[in-house]
Amino acid sequence: MTAELEALTAEIVSCRLCPRLVAWREQVATEKRASFSDEDYWGRPVPGWGDPDAALIVVGLAPAAHGANRTGRMFTGDRSGDWLYRAMYEAGFANQPDSTAVDDGLELHDAWVTAPVRCAPPQNKPETTERDNCAEWFHRELDLLGSARVFVALGQYAYVSLWRYLGASMVLPRPRPRFANGEEIPLADGRTVLLSFHPSQQNTFTGRLTREMLAAVFARARDLTALHRADPDSASNGGVRRPGSDRG
Ligand code: SF4
Repeated sequence: MTAELEALTAEIVSCRLCPRLVAWREQVATEKRASFSDEDYWGRPVPGWGDPDAALIVVGLAPAAHGANRTGRMFTGDRSGDWLYRAMYEAGFANQPDSTAVDDGLELHDAWVTAPVRCAPPQNKPETTERDNCAEWFHRELDLLGSARVFVALGQYAYVSLWRYLGASMVLPRPRPRFANGEEIPLADGRTVLLSFHPSQQNTFTGRLTREMLAAVFARARDLTALHRADPDSASNGGVRRPGSDRG
């Protein structure tokens, strides 16, 4: 990790700006889930992680109470992470499909995983003020990831948060394209936003998101990052590609 990202991470993990979320993350870390009762929960803000030279940036929503809030690493220790990292592994962005703990050996290649809210929220629902408080961390982190060419937004919340970030520094398509799984949004500067349903249990248990759908998004991300690496000026058409995707 670069010195700047390390310094930012140190700031993030010390943040206590949102009283409701600080109380919740620490309450969860103290009470614990019975199946993890012998573990020390992280119970703090969770920083992004991965390859600081990543072309692919994956954006989630917020840490899960007994997932990243327990392990201290994004999408680690819960079923959402099982789905995400398996798809990233199959697409060549990770060295293994399993993500169980910070010392599990998982490494990301050309990819960075982050979220617009860094503390686990009750019911996975941050309040608007909490999202706005945390935007500084999200924006500063993305600013430091200068090789980013492709963004995968996992769910509407990630998409809107990412759109706000991008809109602060460039002209975006208007109106903002509606969220749809599989949507691909080329930006005027050659970068691309890909949309996927979030791999939450709400989506995976119901079949709204299948492993094949998630794999297809990351396969496309792999192709786009390879294209960008080979030709940094490619794909700057600023339109919206609609591959017959599902709305929602
Ligand atoms: Fe700080 Fe973000 Fe956690 Fe709020 S959600 S306390 S801004 S790290």
